[in-house]
Amino acid sequence: MAIQRLSPDVAAKIAAGEVIERPASVVKELIENAIDAQAKTIRVEAVQGGKRLLKISDDGLGIPADEVPLAFERYATSKLSSIEDLFRVKTLGFRGEALASVAAVSHLSMISRPSGQTSGAQIRLEGGEQKGLDRVGAPAGTMVTVEHLFYNVPARLKFLKADATEMGHIYRIVSHYALAYPEIRFSLFNAGRQVFQTGGSGDLYDVLVSVWGLAVAKQMLEVEEETAGGITVYGYAGTPALHRGQRDYLVLFVNRRWIQDRALAHAVAQAYHTFLPVGRHPVAALNVLLDPAEVDVNVHPTKAEVKFREPGAVFTAVQRPVRATITEHAPAARPAQAFGGEGERWAEGRQTGGHAGDFDHAADFGELSRAEFQRWSQLGLEAQRTRPVEEASPLALPDLPAALPPLRVVGQIRQMYVVTEGPDGLYLIDQHAAHERVLYEKLMAQKETGAIASQRLLTPLLLELTPAQAAVLEAEIKALTAIGFELEPFGGYSYRLLAAPEMLAAENLAEACLDILNEMVEGALPLARQTHEQTAVVVCKRASIKGGQTLSYKEMEELVRQLEQSQNPRTCPHGRPTMIHLSAYQLAREFGRH
Ligand code: ADP
Ligand code: MG
Repeated sequence: MAIQRLSPDVAAKIAAGEVIERPASVVKELIENAIDAQAKTIRVEAVQGGKRLLKISDDGLGIPADEVPLAFERYATSKLSSIEDLFRVKTLGFRGEALASVAAVSHLSMISRPSGQTSGAQIRLEGGEQKGLDRVGAPAGTMVTVEHLFYNVPARLKFLKADATEMGHIYRIVSHYALAYPEIRFSLFNAGRQVFQTGGSGDLYDVLVSVWGLAVAKQMLEVEEETAGGITVYGYAGTPALHRGQRDYLVLFVNRRWIQDRALAHAVAQAYHTFLPVGRHPVAALNVLLDPAEVDVNVHPTKAEVKFREPGAVFTAVQRPVRATITEHAPAARPAQAFGGEGERWAEGRQTGGHAGDFDHAADFGELSRAEFQRWSQLGLEAQRTRPVEEASPLALPDLPAALPPLRVVGQIRQMYVVTEGPDGLYLIDQHAAHERVLYEKLMAQKETGAIASQRLLTPLLLELTPAQAAVLEAEIKALTAIGFELEPFGGYSYRLLAAPEMLAAENLAEACLDILNEMVEGALPLARQTHEQTAVVVCKRASIKGGQTLSYKEMEELVRQLEQSQNPRTCPHGRPTMIHLSAYQLAREFGRH
């Protein structure tokens, strides 16, 4: 095909796709606009997870009638005029892209009135094309209505998840901006029903209560404002007793912008080093303020990541006060020091051995182990690619059969992997992934025969949910019941847990349920699966042996036996490998014997 210019329509849709990924992205951009317009009240309404309708209203400065059409042109902004401005930008928006992007992929209507004008302007657009512009009576402020999002981008539409999941994403955006701006009153409505609200008192603690509930807020410690080297840090950090299986509860703001920065999140997590069980994440809401010239906010399409001129200084400035706060309140928990870095991890693992830490495959390798891991997995990959050559070796299997040969347990390393030997070499098994697979097949078999192993609780457990968790629970109650949960509403966002799948018996049930619901809110699961399978996957993830758990020889043998009997022993239900196989031939080659 010859090179040709994309039509403006196609170009606009592609550009929009960068910024607007799902209904929650629209909410994010429009909330940012309202905040930039100095709104004191922001109201968000969604219908069908925002796919059918989104309405964001604010009482901010409004847009003068004659500027309204211009606001929808790409690169039209009132927030920046020269490239130098970019390095002192104080507003959340600055690219002049959001309104144009949202309008390009929806039916949009905006009514806006600055308080100094007697009437407002209403504009309507479809697929970015202006369809109407009128004078209307309106309250001061701005109201944007977005309908039929992605109606003209079917590929995007297909990728949207269940209403409850999309609603969960919207809730996450609204609640996190509420945490960043305690002085603004936020409210969120799902199909006309209010699901979230903050009072706008200006007190972060009040918002913590609204977002995470009183039980969590009570365990949060205030990180008092501290300025070092021009970097100010303040907020709240959870006591070490308050940990979660997801990173979601670690919320960071840089110059009042909510960011998802892995490195900075890691710096905070490091402040909890040796205080949290392996694989668990802290709860915190922290603000970082620094000279805008020290941070580049223009490195990510949705502005979710930033780049610091001196990351090290920022990390230290954040870590120190958090660490000080938690050590002050938890003098009893003494960090293990005996062996320095790696030894510490060992000692830690021993102490917490048997504790159910939720291990996330990709994320929690230390530097050393990451290198190791890459090395191992490269070898594993090679094993697949070079098979034809390998067939020369009598020891190598002709093909990777689904079933496993009988394996002999050699031992455990890093409280994470089980080393085993088969007739054809070494098998390194990921204990968490392998156990997930075993449990998943067990649960599916039980479901097939209608013999779900469910355990009734002696006393029902009260679960206090967030609106997002409650929405998922309501939407997926059938799937949850089908695998052994029994839950009943108990007013508001409270539910009573009457029974739970037997495989969760050894867990802290309340914590397990919250983790499972959070995971479902996240929707981070293979798309094609049916909901009941997805739910089963999440439950198995929670119920399985975790990384960081020491296993006895017997336990390892039991796990390997069960894995041998699985139908698909080589992948976990998420599709990741449960094991790495190094054939005798590969071992010999690596040692230069060939
Ligand atoms: P950006 O926020 O990057 O400037 P947008 O496309 O989001 O770009 O908005 C374009 C312009 O429209 C903004 O610069 C601002 O002047 C105006 N605007 C958008 N939303 C609002 C609002 N809710 N209240 C007042 N002005 C707004
Ligand atoms: Mg904007």
